[in-house]
Amino acid sequence: MYPQTFYAKTRADQTIRPALHGAQDTDTVIIGGGLAGLTTALELAREGVAVTVLESESIGFGASGRNGGIVSPAFACGSAAIAARVGPEKARALHKLTIEGVARLRSHIQILNIAQAEPVAGLLNLRRFDQAADLHAEAEQFARDYDYHFTYLDRTAIQERLQTTRYLHGLEDPQAFHIHPLNYLRALATEAERLGAKIFEHSPATGCDLGRQKHLRTPKGHVTAKRAIFATGGYTGPLIPRLKRTVLPIATYMMVSHPAPDLLAKVIKTSAAVLDDRRASDYYRLVEGGQRLLWGGRITTRAAAPQAVAAELRRAMLDVYPQLAPLQTDLAWSGLMAYARHLMPQIGQLQPDVWHITAFGGHGLNTTAIAGKVLAEAILHQSNRIDLFAPWGLDYAGGPIGLAVAQLTYWYLQAQDHWRERRR
Ligand SMILES: Cc1cc2nc3c(=O)[nH]c(=O)nc-3n(C[C@H](O)[C@H](O)[C@H](O)COP(=O)(O)OP(=O)(O)OC[C@H]3O[C@@H](n4cnc5c(N)ncnc54)[C@H](O)[C@@H]3O)c2cc1C
Repeated sequence: MYPQTFYAKTRADQTIRPALHGAQDTDTVIIGGGLAGLTTALELAREGVAVTVLESESIGFGASGRNGGIVSPAFACGSAAIAARVGPEKARALHKLTIEGVARLRSHIQILNIAQAEPVAGLLNLRRFDQAADLHAEAEQFARDYDYHFTYLDRTAIQERLQTTRYLHGLEDPQAFHIHPLNYLRALATEAERLGAKIFEHSPATGCDLGRQKHLRTPKGHVTAKRAIFATGGYTGPLIPRLKRTVLPIATYMMVSHPAPDLLAKVIKTSAAVLDDRRASDYYRLVEGGQRLLWGGRITTRAAAPQAVAAELRRAMLDVYPQLAPLQTDLAWSGLMAYARHLMPQIGQLQPDVWHITAFGGHGLNTTAIAGKVLAEAILHQSNRIDLFAPWGLDYAGGPIGLAVAQLTYWYLQAQDHWRERRR
């Protein structure tokens, strides 16, 4: 079953897939039915590979079915840190992959006719600090390096779209868009099945033997495969200790309002999604054609009760839009993102024919769309684009100390953001 989220409540397709009973023989077994697992399953199935997916709960139960739905280029790791590690040329090649991820996701929606993904164009990437020079430079660099064009927004242009004085500058990205992520994911699963993939829900992989043949055990079944792919995101358990120790599960939060189209139309006059530049950023968008507001933000390393965090999200919303005080919250929920210590995705091979595809952090929609493709290409010896990710290996994330450091870093950055804003 799904947790209570706006997406689960409004999902278009109610198919319930069976749990695995008995023995299955396949070419590739994928553990985890989020976007990373299902995109890889689809890309392999397109190439005629027999795939079986095991999902502990329902597909999209994890971050993939609960997120903000904003599809834009970039990794969770900032571009400066990427360039510092691999140099400008490889950093550009990696960024191009993230743009390709956006295009791939868009083309899945078009080719598979996934109207229920409800794509809506546009993202406003806004600054709460006074750094217009940086923004112009960023827009110029993207136009030069990637032929990717942003529109610069000054305060007046922002206020034509949003009734708030919080934002000083911004870039509008007309190529980014936002979607109903669970409907998108469920349509990918249906397509993978049409191409022969088998997907089992309520089938946690509880044991494995990863010798020459890969054996995965579930409570009532067993899969034998030539190859195994672990795509368990922030929900990675102890099955592969070497993988678990590299993942920091970080909780983040969302809420959706009750319908209030008239009030919302006065305040948010754009259908684009909105994101601010703080490390503890707010992100939000109108959904259901402007009926409701979906608002996300905050992170914690220990999952807090969504209701408690809803009060915090609401404070954040009222800080930007005091006029929304009458807006009632309908639902709030949390989800776990997977972060590696280096903040880059981890895509590679644990041992012969055992692959991993995890750690997409808060930027998983475009990055899983391209990572699934790149991993399928590596498995089928079609390209070596996966090598671009090799510099970011399976680093130990630090266990409980890593989590404590992540929380302290977040609080520190939050305080820094607050201070920068007070000085603006
Ligand atoms: C609240 C929230 C907002 C976000 N907003 C955005 C956004 O706007 N834009 C964006 O690009 N990204 C966003 N993200 C990040 C994005 O959702 C993730 O990076 C992405 O969905 C990760 O996909 P995944 O498949 O790796 O992990 P998941 O979707 O978490 O999937 C992992 C799956 O593995 C399953 N699993 C775990 N262990 C086992 C096992 N032993 N056996 C079988 N199955 C198992 C889990 O049940 C789960 O379904 C957000 C994330 C959250 C939580």
